[in-house]
Amino acid sequence: MNCQEFDKHMKSFIEKKIDCACLDSFLEHYKSCPECREELEIKFLMAYLMKDQNDTSFHLAHALNRHIEEEIRRKKRFYQKRIFQYVLISVSESLVFLTAIYFIFFIVLK
Ligand SMILES: [Zn+2]
Repeated sequence: MNCQEFDKHMKSFIEKKIDCACLDSFLEHYKSCPECREELEIKFLMAYLMKDQNDTSFHLAHALNRHIEEEIRRKKRFYQKRIFQYVLISVSESLVFLTAIYFIFFIVLK
């Protein structure tokens, strides 16, 4: 991911809506590019302060790290759900197949 793409995804990342498929490359760029990191920290801080103005114990680095961890967890859940759906579809497809085999062997060829 380059700086331009990073910039495009910043808003959705802060709103916890970033596409799970690009979270890894987003975080990779975040770690490797000081300019974008600073930019994200500023935007994150702004968003955070607007959301909760009463929080005086705010610590930017901690809050941003927590936010990143939450996004990573969300990505994991997203892929776990997809794997589960895939397994479910495979199982139901096998069931249909086995039913067809059963039908052919035990009913048609009887
Ligand atoms: Zn950058």
